[in-house]
Amino acid sequence: MSRLGKGLKRKYEKIGALQQLHEKYMSLDQNKNVQVMYIWIDATGENLRGKTKTFDFEPREASELPIWNFDGTSTGQQVGEGSDVYIRPIALYRDPFRPGPNKIALCETLDHDYKPHPTNTRQQCLEVMNKAKEFVPWFGMEQEYTLLDLDRHPYGWPKHGYPGPQGPYYCAVGSDKIYGREIVEAHYRACMYAGIKISGTNAESMPSQWEYQVGPCEGIEMGDQLWVARYILNRVCEDYGVVSSLDPKPILGDWNGAGCHLNFSTEVMRTPSIDGAGYRAIEEAIQKLSKVHLEHIAYYDPHGGRDNERRLIGANETETIDAFSSGVANRECSVRIPRQVYNDQYGYFEDRRPSSNCDPYTVTAAMVKTCCLTGED
Ligand code: ADP
Ligand code: MN
Ligand code: MN
Ligand code: MN
Ligand code: MN
Repeated sequence: MSRLGKGLKRKYEKIGALQQLHEKYMSLDQNKNVQVMYIWIDATGENLRGKTKTFDFEPREASELPIWNFDGTSTGQQVGEGSDVYIRPIALYRDPFRPGPNKIALCETLDHDYKPHPTNTRQQCLEVMNKAKEFVPWFGMEQEYTLLDLDRHPYGWPKHGYPGPQGPYYCAVGSDKIYGREIVEAHYRACMYAGIKISGTNAESMPSQWEYQVGPCEGIEMGDQLWVARYILNRVCEDYGVVSSLDPKPILGDWNGAGCHLNFSTEVMRTPSIDGAGYRAIEEAIQKLSKVHLEHIAYYDPHGGRDNERRLIGANETETIDAFSSGVANRECSVRIPRQVYNDQYGYFEDRRPSSNCDPYTVTAAMVKTCCLTGED
């Protein structure tokens, strides 16, 4: 502490005092009550909302929790008469921000007839996943994001000008190359506590840009888990006074954009066999994807492809938005087959097109529809 500047030292002392004060209240027992944070996706298809309800029991499954409602006029989700939108808990997680019996309940939105709300993309995804059950689809998503200061300037960047060019930052170590590791570590641990299948994390090519991976998850679980991981990151960032941005190209110029690579396999693809059936299934899937490239682009960001226009430019490890390409170990392609998968002749492949702010329900549904539910014509 002694080497810190006076200003920074004073700031830390203030935070320490606030933490102690907060602890005074948070250490009070809950008097047998349980808090459940109901969270849902709002009309933007990108932002999450949440509010808390008290229960007198500890729920073990989402189905034990009642349907609740919120004011749809305040989230751009009002449909028809009246402003109530129903929220139905569909997946339950431990709450890392309220340790103990408390939970986070991911909810889907329903209209006044208990039908899926127009902004509810989960129901359609679930239908697709149910139809494709026999394929046992697995997904892993690589969520890239950028940490910003409250003024929306990248976290830790000089306020006037830029850090040195890309090169030293990816998977780096050192105070001059790493911006915000404490936030990444906090998020990682909070996800593990919650029950998210977070499979790793790394610093990205642009300073203050990071990635975490969730998976492998089967079917509908991919979307559920990624949305909750995003919620947790937003909460962690609140604590650190920073913003996590899912903008797919936060800084123009020679700075990498942010994607959300989708790794995918069916049971056949990932099963070792002597005749290479797994690898053939991967090649067939990529062949099908090549025929519906633009349809997929429309599904791969929340604005029908417009967000990805800034990111898929044929540079900074991307293919151009209007072209489809695939290759082994090639990161300038739309779809990449990892080198190891080529060597083994089974495994999975990576669709590099989805943008950082994509809806994982829409993206995983499109993948399964094209690769599993489309005939050989
Ligand atoms: P990259 O080399 O593209 O950076 P990462 O290691 O960041 O890849 O992410 C790979 C993702 O693929 C992880 O989320 C992992 O869980 C997922 N994954 C691994 N095996 C499979 C599989 N058989 N099917 C689907 N996803 C898989
Ligand atoms: Mn009120
Ligand atoms: Mn990765
Ligand atoms: Mn990455
Ligand atoms: Mn990747």
